[in-house]
Amino acid sequence: MTRSTPLPDPAALGPLVADRARAAAEGLEFATFLVGVRARGLGKHVSEPALLAWKGAVKRAAGGLLADAWSERRAAFVRPEALFVWDADREALEVTLRPLHLYGRYVKRARGVSQTRATWPCPACRERRPRGCAACDGTGLAYPRSIEGLLAGPCAAAFLGDAAATTLHGMGREDVDVLCLGAGRPFVFEVQAPRRRSADLATLAAEVEAGAAGALALPEGLRLVPDEVVARVKGWPAPKVYRAVARVEGPLDPARVAALPDRLGGVTLAQRTPQRVARRRTDLVRARRVRALEVLSIADAPDGPRVELRVEAEAGTYIKELVSGDGGRTTPSVADALGVPCTCVELDVLEVGARDEDVLGAAPTPASQAGDEGD
Ligand SMILES: [Zn+2]
Repeated sequence: MTRSTPLPDPAALGPLVADRARAAAEGLEFATFLVGVRARGLGKHVSEPALLAWKGAVKRAAGGLLADAWSERRAAFVRPEALFVWDADREALEVTLRPLHLYGRYVKRARGVSQTRATWPCPACRERRPRGCAACDGTGLAYPRSIEGLLAGPCAAAFLGDAAATTLHGMGREDVDVLCLGAGRPFVFEVQAPRRRSADLATLAAEVEAGAAGALALPEGLRLVPDEVVARVKGWPAPKVYRAVARVEGPLDPARVAALPDRLGGVTLAQRTPQRVARRRTDLVRARRVRALEVLSIADAPDGPRVELRVEAEAGTYIKELVSGDGGRTTPSVADALGVPCTCVELDVLEVGARDEDVLGAAPTPASQAGDEGD
């Protein structure tokens, strides 16, 4: 490097960067780290090779000092838990903490809880400024509670993150009015910039459940998983088992009810994107297989008979539309088969067909139909 360079001497800059990194690391828990250098402005005045050589010298100088100071930590070029970047133009150090990921399965026992934070306004006070009324507990939101929100507080507290900087990645999703029972739905919960990376996970899971007051259970607890589990969970085409209650708008023909399992079990549906989600999803026709269908019970109600069904269907099947036919957009349907209009008035997920050991193991993600999730 020639004396005419505008770049500071690495022998002097290295110790400065290391000192700043040590100060910034105060109170942070991380096992691996990396030092980086950025010099967009200063770098314009030197050749590319000279800039690269200079950056390398600064990184080696600072990284070496830090490796000596932090004997319990190691430098990692791939996915460091803490990344310290020296911005040479601003003469400032930036710290980026790698997100951490918790895997679990959630059981949702209350209706009116959304999967992710929902910002839909409360219908009772939407015109008021500021919003908030008794119906929405002063929140101004139609659905103040979400699985994501119930996990956010305790998880952010345990890992010293920001509750707002957390994300739930679900293996599909259920509607806000749909329960998710049985062994629960696999998910990964992401804490974006955790200042701590270890916690008592059994205590954490118990805190989440206590805060949810019965709405949410975590039967498998929580465990730390590698980043790539997010994509596996989101892309895993898990078949589901549902309990669906159909309100039948007309007289029930016993012969048609008896024939229902054979009419629909094993059938491949043609499902056009439902009207209720058409605004936010691509309008296309999907082929989805109903693996099995069973009539669990028949009951009378003032507004028409109720048929309770157990439906086993391929990932991405829209069950409410399988019941109603969605104005001819889903064929065949329960309404077709019974010959009378039907509405799905209650829906629960009984089983999400994905085993933890498969999702978390080395098995390749099963082939997906590359569609979005139904319910
Ligand atoms: Zn309100």
